[in-house]
Amino acid sequence: MTHTAYPQSYYAASANPVPPRPELTGETDTDVCIVGAGYTGLSTALSLLENGFKVSIVEAAKVGFGASGRNGGQIVNSYSRDIDVIERTLGPKQAQLLGQMAFEGGRIIRERIAKYGIQCDLKNGGVFAAITGKQMDHLEAQKRLWERYGHTQLELLDAKRIREVVATDNYIGGMLDMSGGHIHPLNLALGEAAAVESLGGVIYEQSPAIRIERDANPVVHTPQGRIKAKFVVVAGNAYLGNLIPELSAKSMPCGTQVITTEPLSAELAKSLLPQDYCVEDCNYLLDYYRLSGDKRLIFGGGVVYGARDPANIEAIIRPKMLRTFPQLKDVKIDYAWTGNFLLTLSRLPQVGRLGDNVYYSQGCSGHGVTYTHLAGKVLAEALRGQAERFDAFAELPHYPFPGGQLLRIPFTAMGAWYYSLRDKLGV
Ligand SMILES: Cc1cc2nc3c(=O)[nH]c(=O)nc-3n(C[C@H](O)[C@H](O)[C@H](O)COP(=O)(O)OP(=O)(O)OC[C@H]3O[C@@H](n4cnc5c(N)ncnc54)[C@H](O)[C@@H]3O)c2cc1C
Repeated sequence: MTHTAYPQSYYAASANPVPPRPELTGETDTDVCIVGAGYTGLSTALSLLENGFKVSIVEAAKVGFGASGRNGGQIVNSYSRDIDVIERTLGPKQAQLLGQMAFEGGRIIRERIAKYGIQCDLKNGGVFAAITGKQMDHLEAQKRLWERYGHTQLELLDAKRIREVVATDNYIGGMLDMSGGHIHPLNLALGEAAAVESLGGVIYEQSPAIRIERDANPVVHTPQGRIKAKFVVVAGNAYLGNLIPELSAKSMPCGTQVITTEPLSAELAKSLLPQDYCVEDCNYLLDYYRLSGDKRLIFGGGVVYGARDPANIEAIIRPKMLRTFPQLKDVKIDYAWTGNFLLTLSRLPQVGRLGDNVYYSQGCSGHGVTYTHLAGKVLAEALRGQAERFDAFAELPHYPFPGGQLLRIPFTAMGAWYYSLRDKLGV
């Protein structure tokens, strides 16, 4: 079998050492078999193991091979859809539950880092940067809404304050979330995998699930083996392909690209982001950036609908970086890569059960570092028979993309073009 390696990212180049992990061969059994070793799978495994379950994970490639090992590393709380939209579309009870949970993922990440001693360059503080007056009004409204759910740590930044935290003239203001922040995403995933194994969980790499027998006693098949389980949790997200056709009809893989500069001098790094916060702007197709532990600028942006790999990532992303920081014009780009996240039409996660014993959570549509950690906890609660919080997600309605499999990519790209034009015009 061909082994699938990490992309040539900065994260893979600076990953903490890991033990070799076996491929699944032969037959074994467990309480819960999880498909996919990204944050969703790992967080679910940890929550289950901490509650006495036996857990095995089958991973098609390597731990953190998908979005969890490639992302911008930004701990962005809440969901990829604003809470007022959730309030308008769902009942008050469901909105209340989702609103209360919206900042929990960041706390779970910090608890795991502390409990399991994970080395992943954690820094506190994330900034949402407003380019237009309309975006600033939106941030002010969001802050007021979040306060109603008890999330009172958010701080608005005026034009002078935002200039003190990020050295660009692009922004008219912003909002600081000190419960946000940033991490080395692959090292977080690798640390969580080590924690899973320290609690007796088993992770098989290079072991794609190729079939799931969905009956009273589910069985997950890989090319060389199979796992009998009481429950299966599907956590393959944008890399799942068509393993579960009911799920792929209502979600679409999308690519986003990241570049990483050479290490900057300490003075230059500090001049760009003096407090070492991470930043994302408020555009529909947003730019996001931060410093790495060794003071490189990691800059991401852009979306490729349908997740085709663009030919020259640096040519797409570097001009965006220079529009924010022209002072980096002579700085070399050391790494460029792409990764896939899973978009749903509502931009809310796709969560639920298939029959009684196959569970899934995927499709957080952009922001997923915190949600996936919450999802793991909530999935584990459901498997323990406490499904109220799980059901708040499972009841979210989902619809197929307009245009079906053939036309959904151009239709969605047209929608995104429309929204990004509105951002440019400030309307
Ligand atoms: C470039 C990029 C930048 C991003 N930046 C941010 C950010 O800064 N902040 C933020 O909040 N979110 C960000 N996101 C989103 C975030 O990374 C994801 O939402 C999150 O990591 C998803 O985690 P996951 O475990 O659900 O999926 P993944 O991390 O994609 O993991 C799925 C895993 O399942 C495995 N798998 C798939 N199919 C099978 C199968 N059949 N059998 C076995 N294994 C299988 C895959 O190999 C993969 O390892 C970004 C995403 C990308 C791509």
